[in-house]
Amino acid sequence: MAGEPSMVRASRASDTAIETETVREGLVKLLYESLRLSLSMSVLNGFILAAIMSPALGLARVGPWYLVLLLISALRWQDMLAYQRAPSQHDARVWERRAFLGAVVAGTVWGAAGWVLFAPHDPVEQVILAFVLAGMAAGALSVLSSLRYAVNAFLVISLSPLILRFLFEGGRVGWLMGGMALLFMIALYVTARRLNTTITDSLRTRYDCQQAENSASYQARFDDLTELPNRRYLHEQTQRNLARSRRHGIGGALLFLDLDNFKTVNDSLGHPVGDQVLRQVADRLRTRLRTEDIAARLGGDEFVVLLSDLSVDVQTAEAAAMRFAEDLQHVLTDHPYETQEHVLHMSASIGITVFPGNGTDIDDLMRQADTAMYDAKASGRNAISFYHGALHEAASLRLQLDRELRAALRGGQLSLHYQPMVDQNGQISGLEALLRWNHPERGMIPPAEFIPIAEETGIILELGEWVLSTACRDLVRLLRRFGDATPSISVNLSARQFRLPSLVDTVVAIAADAGAPLSKLCLEVTEGSLMDNVERAISTMESLRALGVKFSVDDFGTGYSSLAYLKKLPVDNIKIDQSFVRDVLLDHNDAGIVGAILSMAQHLGLATVAEGVESVEVRDFLIARHCTYFQGYYFSRPLIFEHLLSFIDQASRQRA
Ligand code: C2E
Ligand code: MG
Ligand code: MG
Repeated sequence: MAGEPSMVRASRASDTAIETETVREGLVKLLYESLRLSLSMSVLNGFILAAIMSPALGLARVGPWYLVLLLISALRWQDMLAYQRAPSQHDARVWERRAFLGAVVAGTVWGAAGWVLFAPHDPVEQVILAFVLAGMAAGALSVLSSLRYAVNAFLVISLSPLILRFLFEGGRVGWLMGGMALLFMIALYVTARRLNTTITDSLRTRYDCQQAENSASYQARFDDLTELPNRRYLHEQTQRNLARSRRHGIGGALLFLDLDNFKTVNDSLGHPVGDQVLRQVADRLRTRLRTEDIAARLGGDEFVVLLSDLSVDVQTAEAAAMRFAEDLQHVLTDHPYETQEHVLHMSASIGITVFPGNGTDIDDLMRQADTAMYDAKASGRNAISFYHGALHEAASLRLQLDRELRAALRGGQLSLHYQPMVDQNGQISGLEALLRWNHPERGMIPPAEFIPIAEETGIILELGEWVLSTACRDLVRLLRRFGDATPSISVNLSARQFRLPSLVDTVVAIAADAGAPLSKLCLEVTEGSLMDNVERAISTMESLRALGVKFSVDDFGTGYSSLAYLKKLPVDNIKIDQSFVRDVLLDHNDAGIVGAILSMAQHLGLATVAEGVESVEVRDFLIARHCTYFQGYYFSRPLIFEHLLSFIDQASRQRA
């Protein structure tokens, strides 16, 4: 115990105090519950004793005693009624003291009987008195043993005078009766002790069980980390609200809230930091709730707020929910989140649906708010979106696509096409692997349609591994056929893949598995994924470059890379996004941007690839500005593997 922190000790001490108090309340309650029977028996026994004793001792001696007994019993009866009316009127200690006092006074009256109602030289009367007193003492045992010192006091006070009286009386009978009464008192004392322990223990056990039950019910309904209600509790409360909404025509709203980029925090700074952020988010949420609102954590970085008592009119309810959501966003984004070592800025995307306008089915409403939240994320994060029917359809389409994509991965519906990149002399310098999905019903689905969804749902990781390993196996086939003349293959990496801490190991393992040399592999990474965490990007790229892998910055110009960063990044070339290249001859701005990128790259000593070159004029424009490589329909469309073979054959024949 000595090493225990004082907080723990204090809390344990206060637990014990609460337990003692609860057990005390239980003991007092037990005592008062059985008092009615005990008082009735006492009055009846007293009457019988008085009736038997009066002929021998006279009414003048017996009468007053019985009157005192009646009076005391009446007072104790009063006390019992007061307890039953309002046990909480006094502290359990006060009731305990009153019960104790009652027991002492009653014991004194009965003890007095042992002296006053003792008929000397009349053994029959003496035995009757002894019997009655023994009966009273035994009866007190069952009532008073919940209070140990009350039962002890009663036994001693009520029996001692009789014992003394017998001993005073002397003679064989006196000594015998006195001794027997003494033994009886000791036996009762031992029994009372045992009974008291049993009662106290059982109350304590009951208390422990109740505690365990309370804590289990708490755990089942509240989230451990944030102490907010959990999904189950939210469900219960929402059901209740929806029932009220239907009955009384009251509106409400469900807000689905998801932190932006929380996964990055968790992945890069570790779960303890993530946990601290979640707790702070919960605290901030709490400050904005009215008493009738509920905020719950569903798990991960997902929270739901249930707003009650809004208008049934959709527009009015939406306006109120919007005000609340905006306020919430301010609270969540205004100050940074401070953890032990980091200061973080977080934002949240919020989706809202209102009821009964959008229905009163809880599962539907949760789905709707979730869908709206996804829409908020898609519209650039830190945004608020409302659920509207069309959105929902987009969400179901997304879900369906995700399911089908998983099936496609297993069912061989995916393939890779290769698009050549060429240098200024038309020589093939590389091949970009482009993913194709041949859907059994919908035909070819372009990657622009399914890659973003695969990113969102996470299946991109499996997809990415499939692409990498297929590309590596194709590379080995090319090497067998073209030897050293084989161009390198570029594979697109999604942002999510690039962030994976295991990326280096995965790439190395997949290439080794296929038997492909890493020196013929190039990875295309978009600006966005590089800027996400520049330091980590650099370290990942350096590890892979040390093994021979090359890197391209894909879709350059669409992101927000600054020149300073570009200088730091260990990349081999940058690919100018086709949206600038396409109209380079028609649009002055595009021409200016492309020109600037090319001269900057030249300055930094970086090779450049222009994407989307569709005409000889565009190629000439780019050559004039020292673009290094070209990719586009003008040279070749993306090709299936067999066509790629003939394309390379033809190119090498031309060169020869
Ligand atoms: P990206 O990496 O910028 O790929 C170039 C896209 O431009 C390809 O579209 C290609 O077919 C298209 N393209 C090439 N030359 C021309 C041209 O002259 N004119 C026009 N209009 N387009 C041209 P695709 O195959 O539809 O791919 C679109 C995007 O999907 C890719 O852009 C890439 O970001 C992504 N993607 C494709 N395959 C994969 C993959 O295996 N993994 C990942 N993560 N993303 C992929
Ligand atoms: Mg690419
Ligand atoms: Mg590109």
